[in-house]
Amino acid sequence: MLPEIELYIHIPFCIRKCNYCDFLSFPAGEELQNRYVDALCQEISDTGACLPLPYPVRSIFMGGGTPSILSIYNIRRILSRIREHFNLTEKAEISMEANPGTLSSEKLAAYREAGVNRLSIGLQSADDECLRMLGRIHSWPEFRKNYLQARKAGFDNINIDIMSALPGQSLESYLKTLKEVIKLQPEHISSYSLILEEGTPLYNDDSLLKILPDEETDRLMYEMTKKTLEDAGYHRYEISNYAKEGKECIHNLGYWEDVPYLGFGLGAASYWKEKSSTDRPERFLRFSNVRDLHTYLIQPYLPFEYRQDYQQLSREERMAEFMFLGLRKIRGVTPGHFKERFGCDMESVYGEPIRKFLDMGLLSMKDGRLALTEQGINVSNQIFCEFI
Ligand code: SF4
Repeated sequence: MLPEIELYIHIPFCIRKCNYCDFLSFPAGEELQNRYVDALCQEISDTGACLPLPYPVRSIFMGGGTPSILSIYNIRRILSRIREHFNLTEKAEISMEANPGTLSSEKLAAYREAGVNRLSIGLQSADDECLRMLGRIHSWPEFRKNYLQARKAGFDNINIDIMSALPGQSLESYLKTLKEVIKLQPEHISSYSLILEEGTPLYNDDSLLKILPDEETDRLMYEMTKKTLEDAGYHRYEISNYAKEGKECIHNLGYWEDVPYLGFGLGAASYWKEKSSTDRPERFLRFSNVRDLHTYLIQPYLPFEYRQDYQQLSREERMAEFMFLGLRKIRGVTPGHFKERFGCDMESVYGEPIRKFLDMGLLSMKDGRLALTEQGINVSNQIFCEFI
């Protein structure tokens, strides 16, 4: 039986670049958008044709960039092309990232009709001053209007993205964002601290860097997120992700739980398990698409050939991924699952770091699950490094 897989679709277009953004995204007119979707659809068909049978798909995630910048026609084209080549499972999650300022009631109704059943809206802050400083194209009232339009269009599974540790952001201002978001009762909330990326306007603006919250305030904001959202009925299931019961993002869980995925579009990454054959053992591959738009649009190659950075994962690398991806989830990992997958005890491979972090109170073992403690979450990157 074929395993369930996930699909990621990258739409690299935005109205304009935000001041903190180093994602693969840029502005583009309608003609370029149409050509891009032509290439994307071709890539989906070519890849589908290479697969022995249509794989069952448990989730599709259209990310970017700003997928909602595309016309309704283009969104329909992408989804119907996927349906031609893959079998969507009955409960498949079909998520789309959207930004206020690119949405309308008409678009939202059309997305629902096309099968999109989860929306992830980028808000970042309910404070218009913060939004201006970030270079976002929308205000808080514009976000609110689009959110209510999405509800009216029938979206009953919505994520809101917010950010903390912004230049000049006080604890009060961040708390106000959390409270305003809670009032809207989305099913899912993601909250990330701002990461300063080299080369972005924000990174080069000394006046803004001077007013960045210090580490202690960043930590207090993190704790505030947890307390405020948990008090409001959201449970944290990953370091930065909160959901109402049963509304965890299926697609993201797949990334942390070793589910294979195919990425389509500019720069999109894939993780693929290749079954064994008479002349080759099972292989676990990571690869990504070209990042140059011109090359992607010309697309004169067979599908797997314009993918690059092929990496065949060794058993050790897969074990390390099992640990550091699995530990991102608040429920952690189980030694039994490790043994099932790799045929050896977790203790025999990682006994030393596990014991060290258990002693330091950074990991805990409860009900047969190994997980980060609150303290461990604060230094999670250091812990993950020890498993690599
Ligand atoms: S909307 Fe998102 S992807 Fe687009 S520029 Fe802003 S942060 Fe980057």
